[in-house]
Amino acid sequence: MSQKAFRYRFYPTPEQENLLRRTMGCARLVYNRALAARSDAWYKHQKRVGYKETSAMLTLWKKEDSLNFLNEVSCVPLQQCLRHLQKAFTNFFAGRAKYPNFKKKHNGGSAEFTKSAFKFRDNQIYLAKCSEPLPIRWSRPLPEGAKPSTVTVKLDPSGRWFVSLLVDVGIETLPKSPNKIGVDLGVTSLIADSNGGKVANPKTFRKKHKRLALAQKRLAKKQKGSNNRHKARLKVARIQAEIADTRRDFLHKLTTRLIRENQVIAVEDLAVKNMKKNHKLALSISDASWGELVRQLEYKADWYGRTVVKIDRWFPSSKRCSNCGHISPKMLLNVRDWVCPECGHSHDRDINAAINILAAGLAVEVCGATVRPEQSKSVKASATKQKTLKREPGNPPL
Ligand SMILES: [Zn+2]
Repeated sequence: MSQKAFRYRFYPTPEQENLLRRTMGCARLVYNRALAARSDAWYKHQKRVGYKETSAMLTLWKKEDSLNFLNEVSCVPLQQCLRHLQKAFTNFFAGRAKYPNFKKKHNGGSAEFTKSAFKFRDNQIYLAKCSEPLPIRWSRPLPEGAKPSTVTVKLDPSGRWFVSLLVDVGIETLPKSPNKIGVDLGVTSLIADSNGGKVANPKTFRKKHKRLALAQKRLAKKQKGSNNRHKARLKVARIQAEIADTRRDFLHKLTTRLIRENQVIAVEDLAVKNMKKNHKLALSISDASWGELVRQLEYKADWYGRTVVKIDRWFPSSKRCSNCGHISPKMLLNVRDWVCPECGHSHDRDINAAINILAAGLAVEVCGATVRPEQSKSVKASATKQKTLKREPGNPPL
């Protein structure tokens, strides 16, 4: 059994909206207080505060007169946000994410309800303390007999409500395929593959990003606290939501195709954050998509019985000639095609990189070999390296 999330839009009744907004407000307050407590404990007293301690704090906060309103909403989302904070710290210490930030009201919010905090009856969701079911627009049916285990309500910054239902579903693995593919994050295209294929970003992307840049510029000029600023911010949020939707849709189609067609998919474990600084628009668009693309590939591979191999990002995939193994000393980002000085083979930069990634991936997959001899644990190695790179001085090394 695998867990699959089904996301729908919904339109809360005024009563529900009021309760949900209060719930999210409380969750945000609890999250921010717990984050402050964890940071303070470290910086001021060099003490570690974990999930258990913050959970005990929550119990105390609920007893304070000034925080009495915390008792008016379901306690589950409050507890869940402490778990999310714990996860954010775990990710930070593993080098996968930045230090957790405070949550801000204008970024919308979310509330997670586990089994004890909602009812699923007659294919309707009843949240705790709500008398009516959530008015969900069922854009696609839940699988027959599926029962959600978690319900997450989200308000996006542009003011749209979404509900995400986590259900257990039986997914049949795909029949084995003889195909193997290497995928590189392209410079001019989104991806290049080892078969010589390239996939560009959606055509509308560049235009939307330009619109976004313009809207952001306008927002920056508006006076703080003014009504116009509020309107400008909504406009930015709406374009961002539009871009995110297009991206998600596009990436789902792409990852599903890659998974269906190939048994093994080799990718670079590329932490977006550490990527070479390049302010070209096209690359920044690809950056944002890459993490999501790898994430989707990984969970879909899990569902369908495929293998995703991640290659150490320090592997010189672009600089190495896939024909003879010669490594060029330097390869500028604007070099699109090159001829190997050793064997005379001419290469498309991105496709050559994808071929190298596939070769390295197969070495890892077949015999557990290391991609770089001086480094053991090729697949996991990148995580430890990022850890040392990313932990900034002064942050608590929990
Ligand atoms: Zn060569």
